[in-house]
Amino acid sequence: MRTVIYPGSFDPLTNGHLDLIERAARLFDRVIVAVAENDAKQPLFTLEERRRLVECSTRGLPHVRVDTFEGLLVEYVVRQKGQAIIRGLRAVSDFEFEFQLALMNRKLCEKVETLFMMPKDTYTFLSSRVVKEISRLGGDVSPFVPPAVRKALRSKLRGRRHPTPGGSVWH
Ligand code: ADP
Repeated sequence: MRTVIYPGSFDPLTNGHLDLIERAARLFDRVIVAVAENDAKQPLFTLEERRRLVECSTRGLPHVRVDTFEGLLVEYVVRQKGQAIIRGLRAVSDFEFEFQLALMNRKLCEKVETLFMMPKDTYTFLSSRVVKEISRLGGDVSPFVPPAVRKALRSKLRGRRHPTPGGSVWH
C-alpha cells in the first residue's frame, strides 16, 4: 500500500491543488490531503472550513482522504505510514523555498521522500493568494476554484471588498 501525503495550507483549495491531487491519485494507492494548522499565515478560512472545502471538492476521487495536522510534517507522515510527500512546483520562484523544505525534511527523516509535481500549464499562474485577492475585489473566480470554494469565498468576503492592509496584487 503506497501512501502519499499532500500537505499545504489550502486557504482555499484551487484548481491547481486539485489538479495535483488527481495526478497523485493515479500514482498512489492512497492520497492524504493534509491541511496544515499554520497560524503564522493568518488564514482567511479556519482549519475546519479549509478541511471541509477540500473534502467536498474531492468527494468523487477514490483513494483520496482529507485530514488536518499540526506539528512536524515528517512525524505526521510516519504516523500515517506514508512513504512520500507531494509538493507542487509552478515556476522557478517556488523552487528555492521548496528545495530548502524538502532537504530539511530529509534531514529530519531520511526515509520520507519529497516528490515534486507540475500542474497542467493553465494552472501554473494560480495561487490561493491571487484567488483571494480577485474575490475580495469582486472578480469572478469560477475558472480557478471548485464551486464550493467560490461560494465560500463569496460569503466570507461579503461586505469586505477592500484590499488587505498589505496592499493589493493589482496595484
Ligand atoms: P503552502 O503549503 O506553502 O502554504 P499552499 O497551500 O498554497 O501553500 O500549497 C500547497 C502546495 O501546493 C505547495 O507545494 C504549492 O507550491 C502547491 N501549489 C499551490 N498552488 C499550486 C498550483 N496552482 N499548481 C500546482 N501546485 C500548487
